[in-house]
Amino acid sequence: MSALDDGVARLPGAGPRLAESLEKLGIRTIRDLLFHLPSRYQDRTRLTPLGALRLQQETVVEGIVETSQVHFGRRRALLCRLVDDTGALTLRFFYFNRAQQQRLEPGRRLRCFGEVRRGPQSLEMVHPEVQVIDDARPDATPLDGALTPIYPTTDGLHQARLRKLTTAALDALGRADEPADAIDALIAQHFHGGAKLPTLATALRYVHRPPPGIDLDLLWQGQLPAQQRLAIEELLAHQLTLRQLRQHARQRIAAPLPPPRALRAGLLRAFGFALTGAQQRVVREIDADLAKPVPMLRLLQGDVGAGKTAVAALTAASALSAGRQVALMAPTELLVEQHGRTLSTWFGGLDVEVLVVTGRLGAGGRRSARALLAEDRPRLVVGTHALFQDDVVYANLGLVIVDEQHRFGVNQRLALLEKGACAAHRPHQLIMTATPIPRTLAMTAYADLDVSMLDELPPNRQPVRTSVLPESRRDDIVARIAEACASGRQAYWVCPLIEESEHLDSQAATDTAAVLAQALPHVKVGLVHGRMPEREKDLTMQQFARGAIELLVATTVIEVGVDVPNASLMVIENAERLGLSQLHQLRGRVGRGRTQSDCVLLYKSPLADTARHRLQTMRETSDGFVIAERDLELRGPGEVLGTRQTGIAEFRIADLTRDRRLLPTVQQVADHVLATAPTLAEQLIARWTVHRAEFAKV
Ligand code: ADP
Ligand code: MG
Repeated sequence: MSALDDGVARLPGAGPRLAESLEKLGIRTIRDLLFHLPSRYQDRTRLTPLGALRLQQETVVEGIVETSQVHFGRRRALLCRLVDDTGALTLRFFYFNRAQQQRLEPGRRLRCFGEVRRGPQSLEMVHPEVQVIDDARPDATPLDGALTPIYPTTDGLHQARLRKLTTAALDALGRADEPADAIDALIAQHFHGGAKLPTLATALRYVHRPPPGIDLDLLWQGQLPAQQRLAIEELLAHQLTLRQLRQHARQRIAAPLPPPRALRAGLLRAFGFALTGAQQRVVREIDADLAKPVPMLRLLQGDVGAGKTAVAALTAASALSAGRQVALMAPTELLVEQHGRTLSTWFGGLDVEVLVVTGRLGAGGRRSARALLAEDRPRLVVGTHALFQDDVVYANLGLVIVDEQHRFGVNQRLALLEKGACAAHRPHQLIMTATPIPRTLAMTAYADLDVSMLDELPPNRQPVRTSVLPESRRDDIVARIAEACASGRQAYWVCPLIEESEHLDSQAATDTAAVLAQALPHVKVGLVHGRMPEREKDLTMQQFARGAIELLVATTVIEVGVDVPNASLMVIENAERLGLSQLHQLRGRVGRGRTQSDCVLLYKSPLADTARHRLQTMRETSDGFVIAERDLELRGPGEVLGTRQTGIAEFRIADLTRDRRLLPTVQQVADHVLATAPTLAEQLIARWTVHRAEFAKV
């Protein structure tokens, strides 16, 4: 045991309370702390002239207050105009008191730190950190000498505290007499393409405390040798974890489930459509898995609208016929309701009980649902992740289906496998996602899963016509909606998240709905957003599905899975702000019926280059796999939008897109390590595994 394996409570100034907070981040030992890497850095070492600011840049600026006024718009705000010789910047404060207002009066010199955003008139910083600079003593407030690391953290644990702790951990690393790291040798041997990579200890020190004078561009892009050294190790650890998981899973026993002829025939009649070739193929792949006494672990990638729900139902039939329970988990209550309706219709005449567990059941309803699940009877239950909380006990779970789970980590897959494991058997698992990722990447990201592709859309679908228009054309669009609704079609109007606050976004959607309702007096307008009570959301969605609402104004809550075939027009505002896969998901809400569908992407000028390319791609193709490829190419470093969409495990330092060229070698080395040095594999996995409690839960 090395000193680095000591608990964090051993560090100077740390006690049990702090240890508890750290535990929430998965940090128990000093070593864990060393592997808790900054998620980014702030550069407070230099001033950026106001004329040279770039969007989304976090930076220090200095200038003189030219005007300072309270504005009464949609929201009261204090606006200060800051100027220097090169340009100007607006500072926007929503919360301020008299004293703060006085500090910001015209003529004052201010130094501010914040993120540069696009405002209505000019570039802005919203609630920057502000220091008043005394012109007489300009040296009294020096800039920082080094970059500031920013760590992932949890409530009540401040950055300053984390910095102190990591400093102490780095000191401990300096003192520790660690044996030469075998992984250093391994990496040196296999990844010698570029310059010699630093050792683990050097790399850790460098990444926690980047020395002054380094190449910032390389740092931002994650291309410094120290970052690459750690990224390689993390990718390797991830690969090993997945392979190990796969091995473990394959050693478990599951009940083999033969294809149920009668129930399947009934379902096919209930569908009212013939399966596509791709659906038939995928069902065969699934059947082959289910026939084995080993739990299936299969990922079904299928483009939006490809018909994954039908595949899920046919798979569920196998378990139900064999007398087992099936749990289908969806990410939102909206989707749970929808699946509940669809599956109840399909299975309704077939003597299969479908149980829908949503928030609106109330405590009593949930209790009786739990009681039903504890009975050894075949039932299909649909719900959110609440289905897998500790207090839910399944008598006899044969199959778990997870729908639209873009962000479904390894630990969660593992936890599911353990869930509902009645004494002898583990449940089979089918994970469905509409965010296709290219095959090479899928093999890395999901090395523990088998992958099926649903790469064919049902027949008679007409591709969605996509147009890209500046916001100035809004009135034309409103007229088009009036026309569409008059001819019996339905439409979506999406107001994507633009602020960090869900409150503001919901407000924006509410305002838009009001404006549209006024402009379209003959159209029945509905609204859904994230801050509405679930019941109200459901109700509105049901009305939309029934046609009682013709135009649905929504935030991106409707992004995943919603299926209303009669809706054939979609308008997306601020489309330039969204990532490709998100746009693709949203557009997938239309083009589900037989009528020609349209999607209008409204943007605010001026368009940045990447945004222009994204919108262009949307116009050119509707193939999810092509879009996924393009997304990966376009989403260069620093491109923040849409990063949550990949569905790929989150890494601390590696990035599957950026580090793509490393992957083949990582795969080879993983094989090599597993075959020749299993203890080394264990060591690597342990270093990078997060023990975070909430991760282990589904
Ligand atoms: P997704 O793969 O995006 O989850 P859904 O399962 O919601 O897609 O299916 C989209 C629509 O296509 C649904 O209305 C569904 O009933 C219909 N559908 C599914 N399979 C077929 C098929 N083989 N032929 C015709 N329509 C189909
Ligand atoms: Mg779906």
